[in-house]
Amino acid sequence: MGRRASRSARSLFSRLAVLAMAAASTLTVQAAAPAHAAVCTGYVGLTFDDGPSGNTPALLNALTQNGLRATMFNEGQYAAANPSLVRAQVSAGMWVGNHSYTHPHLTSLSQAQIDSEISRTQSAIAAAGGGTPKLFRPPYGETNATVKAVEARYGLTEILWNVDSQDWNGASTDAIVAAAGRLTNGQVILLHDWSANTLAAIPRIARGLAARGLCAGMISPSTGRAVAPG
Ligand SMILES: [Zn+2]
Repeated sequence: MGRRASRSARSLFSRLAVLAMAAASTLTVQAAAPAHAAVCTGYVGLTFDDGPSGNTPALLNALTQNGLRATMFNEGQYAAANPSLVRAQVSAGMWVGNHSYTHPHLTSLSQAQIDSEISRTQSAIAAAGGGTPKLFRPPYGETNATVKAVEARYGLTEILWNVDSQDWNGASTDAIVAAAGRLTNGQVILLHDWSANTLAAIPRIARGLAARGLCAGMISPSTGRAVAPG
């Protein structure tokens, strides 16, 4: 009984050792694969508007777990209310842009009002630790010569988008994944911090981009196009 128990214990130990080695090699391969497989033949700009919010931590988790970096176009009022979430965006490797303070229709405001929307957001994001933004996305994509003149005063590059995911308009997760599938090198897609369907789409967006050799890049302030992270 004693010897049998001892023999089966030894046998169990050797089986466990083999299993542990197999598990370790599997883990090593899985951990290394994304970094080594990421041959980037082009870059796309993922952008998430209207944060930061209570949805931001889950969004940042999904992005980092899938090896994606993105540009977060924050509203100044939310950056001021949630400075720790702005820092979390930066810590997660995201870039932070300006999306106005209160999300108004800028083209119906005076130049002084537009200036206030933009300058207060620059200050709120900087005060939160997000740096001074170089990129500006006007709410609703609405812009005109007055908006552009104010952007220029703050050294901001206006960033619209090449692909609209329609997540703001109730697009399904499938439709959001399909929209990301239309991105080509250098292009930018419009997404939102608050969309549950967008959050659900992120792993599939990551796999789709990787399958096409595309990586998530930063948006160049000089060209407005997605480029390799600098
Ligand atoms: Zn917006």
